[in-house]
Formats: sequence, structure tokens, C-alpha cells
Amino acid sequence: MIRAILFDLDETLFDHRSAVAHAVTAWTAALAPCHPLLGEGPALWLRLEDKHLPAWHHGECSFGEQRRRRLRDYCRQMGLAEPADLDDAYADFLTAYEAAWEAFPDAYTVMDAYTGSGLTLGVLTNGQPMQQEAKLRRLGLLDRMDPVLTPDSLGGNFKPSAECYLAAAAKLGLAANEVALVGDNLNLDAIGPTRVGMLGIWLDRYGSATPPPGIPAIRTLADLPAVIPPHAKPERQACLAGHA
Ligand SMILES: [Mg+2]
Repeated sequence: MIRAILFDLDETLFDHRSAVAHAVTAWTAALAPCHPLLGEGPALWLRLEDKHLPAWHHGECSFGEQRRRRLRDYCRQMGLAEPADLDDAYADFLTAYEAAWEAFPDAYTVMDAYTGSGLTLGVLTNGQPMQQEAKLRRLGLLDRMDPVLTPDSLGGNFKPSAECYLAAAAKLGLAANEVALVGDNLNLDAIGPTRVGMLGIWLDRYGSATPPPGIPAIRTLADLPAVIPPHAKPERQACLAGHA
């Protein structure tokens, strides 16, 4: 029986792609308003996240250093002069990024669907804890998510390592097969947790592919209750039984 649902954050509850599009476009336009590749900046930025974040995940550099590498790479590929101070330049990007933080509307729909259920709702993200908690606070979701799990609190283990999922289940005081993980990344949020016995559910917002056999897929978080029905709290069930 599923007793807890963990949600990925970026591109699952939080609309990271839209915030990046806003921030990258604004940051680039401030340097080069008529840049011919302005419209291609956001997609490049997302590719550079995939390129540079693993070095931090593997302990090869700090979180700040992968940001510098990403920004340096972005400027080089866009033909922009490298900023004299990459940290200052990244701070400008962050200001624009944070101004555009928004949840996907179905994040609230799914929270409401499970309110009053006996299920624990939490977050399992590969992100940096301070920034991820700040996002949840801004979106009004932090009070509804407990725990918020990041590699910092899971022995430095990132998704898709088995140790990450097992440590997350242990933090919940549950067996792996009592925990579901829902997220937009097929490997990190669905296939990886399934390998350790969790219920991995792929959120495929864009209908991009057919999942492997045995991996449930949903197009919106509003469809999650069809996969994991909300159930009443044990106390409420006992109470109702007593008055039957
Ligand atoms: Mg994600």
C-alpha cells in the first residue's frame, strides 16, 4: 500500500522551463538587445544544465562552479563576451529567474486532491536545498510538503542512484514499496525508483514518448489520483466504522 508520495520539483511542480525562458531572454537582451539568436537562448541554457550539472552531482565541482561553467559556456556559444565577474552576472540571471517563479496549476489541484488523505506528501529533488525550499515557499507549497528531500539530506546521493531512493524511503520511515515518486524525468523519477521497488510514475506533460512496460505515465498531475487513489486517514476510517 502506498503511504507517501514524493514529487520531483523542477518541471513537475515548478515551471522551471518558463522561468528559464524569461530569465535567459531578459539577461541576453540586456547585453545584446538585437542578438540574432535571442530566441534560441532558453533551449541552449537547458542543454547546458544537462551538460554541467552532472559535474556537481559527481562531486567534481561546487554548485557555484557549475553555474560559472554554464554561464561561460552559454556566452561562448552565443558569441557574447564573457562577463568580468561570472558570479555577478549569474546573480543578474537569478534575479530575473526568481521573478518568474510559478507553479504548474495542476500542482495545486493534486495537493487539494490529497488534502485530508492519510498520505504523506513530500519532495525529492536533485536541486540545492536552499533554492528548492525558496521555490516551494514562494509557490505556497512549502507548508504542504514534508519532507523536502535533497541529496544534502540523503548522504550526498542523487537520483538515479539506488542509495538516493532508499535513503528517501528511510527518511519517511517506510519501505520502498510504500513510496511513490512522481516526476518529469523518465529515468530519474520513474525507472530509477522502480528498480528499488518504489512506484515510479512518469509525468509526461508533452506526450514525448511511450514509457517502458510497467511504468505508469500521466499527462498532468490532476490524473495522479486515478493511479493512487486518496484514502481517508486511519483515524477517520475508525471513526466512521464506529458510527456505522
Ligand atoms: Mg524535474
